[in-house]
Amino acid sequence: MADGSPLSLLDLTRDDLGALVEQWGFKRVHAGKVWRHLYLHGRNDWETIYGLPKELANRLANETSAELLPVTRETRSSDGFTRKYLLGLPDQHQIETVLMRYSGRVTACVSSQVGCAMGCVFCATGQMGYTRHLTTAEIVAQAMHVDRVLRATAAEAPALAESDHDSPHHRHERLRNIVLMGMGEPLHNYDAVIKATKVLRDPGGLALGAKKITLSTVGVVPGIIRLADERQPIYLAVSLHAATQEHRAAIVPVARKWPLDELMRACGYYAEKMQRRIFFEWTLIEGENDRPEDAHAVGRLLQTVPGQVNLIPLNPTSGYEGLPSDQTAARRFQSILAGYGLPSTVRQRRGIDIAAGCGQLAVAGP
Ligand code: SAH
Ligand code: SF4
Repeated sequence: MADGSPLSLLDLTRDDLGALVEQWGFKRVHAGKVWRHLYLHGRNDWETIYGLPKELANRLANETSAELLPVTRETRSSDGFTRKYLLGLPDQHQIETVLMRYSGRVTACVSSQVGCAMGCVFCATGQMGYTRHLTTAEIVAQAMHVDRVLRATAAEAPALAESDHDSPHHRHERLRNIVLMGMGEPLHNYDAVIKATKVLRDPGGLALGAKKITLSTVGVVPGIIRLADERQPIYLAVSLHAATQEHRAAIVPVARKWPLDELMRACGYYAEKMQRRIFFEWTLIEGENDRPEDAHAVGRLLQTVPGQVNLIPLNPTSGYEGLPSDQTAARRFQSILAGYGLPSTVRQRRGIDIAAGCGQLAVAGP
């Protein structure tokens, strides 16, 4: 590569890997073996792959890398359901990846950028500003890290592994879901993110099927339209937080660039083209956007877009003084939405004690 670092295999789709193997003069079928070894078995000792030409194993070992990102710090929530990993990047920056367990499902919350340029006032990542995009390899590596943690956990507790009958290949708890809801705005880094979802979905590897990947955006309108035009098989979540342009622009500055009416048009286009409902996220802030009139405004706004509202009580961050809404306000909000036929959930709060909740991810620079 131009900067002297070896080519990361995690940057390649399976087709890219096939092309590389062919370019090196080997049969394309070998790419499938390498892919399975890497993603299904979580290994990169190429010389042990049965039937792989020795010269190919050598070239892979010498000219490529498939290393994951080093863990700088691990924090576990007191309830045991959430683990937060601080991962180191080659240029000394750091990102956070979160492993969450909800009733038997394991979800990885993955970052797409170092920092974020969108500046939402209540978000710790926004408060740290934007540093750079992550590469496809850096996004894939986060999911693989969580997968590796699960393999290790299964090895420690064989009884747990035995009880996992879901997959003949994996006698361990599997990674079931990916949410692109960590640090950064995924649609600001469209190409790298979408390529990463292709790698993660590949049925011969981590096999995270279409329903298992959810991308959350602050409302990057051209990105939403592109997702629809390309029919990207992922779920879409749109962070709304306010139901009028003026109110939204005050807490989500990027709303000045992509106003609410344009955003709603893009959402309508997406839902129509994909025949799929959209999740709308609403960070509930006491006195700011949790009043009955706010809920009525949401109900009216979403009348024409098939959607579901996910309410997330505000998690504390150092740069914002607002408080989370209490349960009564959250329930009242939900029942008003229900009156408009809008389903909603209140997100279970996870990992707050280790600052791994939504919008709490931030790390100091190098
Ligand atoms: N940039 C994308 C994805 C990352 S943020 C986006 O904004 O959608 C993931 C979710 O956490 C978003 O819905 C965001 O609005 C929400 N969030 C940000 N800060 C929060 C906070 N302090 N408390 C609760 N949710 C927050
Ligand atoms: Fe960026 Fe999302 Fe945080 Fe807004 S909420 S600053 S878009 S990461």
